[in-house]
Amino acid sequence: MEITATHTWDESLFRIHGWRPANDSVVGIDVGLESFAVTSDGEIVDNPRWFRTAQKKLRVAQRHVSRCSKRSGGWRKASRLVAQLHRHVFHQRNDFQHKRSRELVNNHGFIAVEDLNVKGLAGGMLAKSVQDAAWSSFIAKLSYKAESADRLLVKVNARGTSQPCPCGAPVPKKLWDRWHQCAACGLKTTRDQASALEILRRGLRLRTETPTIAGAALEAPSFSYGA
Ligand SMILES: [Zn+2]
Repeated sequence: MEITATHTWDESLFRIHGWRPANDSVVGIDVGLESFAVTSDGEIVDNPRWFRTAQKKLRVAQRHVSRCSKRSGGWRKASRLVAQLHRHVFHQRNDFQHKRSRELVNNHGFIAVEDLNVKGLAGGMLAKSVQDAAWSSFIAKLSYKAESADRLLVKVNARGTSQPCPCGAPVPKKLWDRWHQCAACGLKTTRDQASALEILRRGLRLRTETPTIAGAALEAPSFSYGA
């Protein structure tokens, strides 16, 4: 593929390491509450079944370790099992994340995700911090794959993404409201997809509002939006 050095926005999506065919599909991704993630197309990226099974096994094994007297033969054996299960879960999760991030990068030229550094301030729950850790390692994989395939990854402010409708009208929801129904435009979908659409909208708006950052993105196709 021929390399062109014209620094315009659109061409930045189509140049350099051309081993991925150009793609003008755009997508927003929201961290799901019940699933791993949900895309603006409404696709649910679910935690695979093995994940729950493996975690359950791990919990049982850890309980076993704590019941054995320290440094006994049984304790050593149980500890080895825990370490083994940890490695297993780690590898499987890595594998899962590599596959999903590869799919996203292959299928879309523009990917908008939540900037967790902004959202994380409101955190504190253990389950949430585990999810945040999984999410940030996923974003890291997504980021370098996007870079080498010449895709654009944009991190947007995650605050309040569940509240507006992509049409602009406010659709206030409580934490337990799982549905989005807009009185203004009639959009009816899941809460997570509505959030993913809002993340995409913020990402696209960022793209048109900041042409200088867009130019800088030629070197590093990942930037974030703080305020
Ligand atoms: Zn609407």
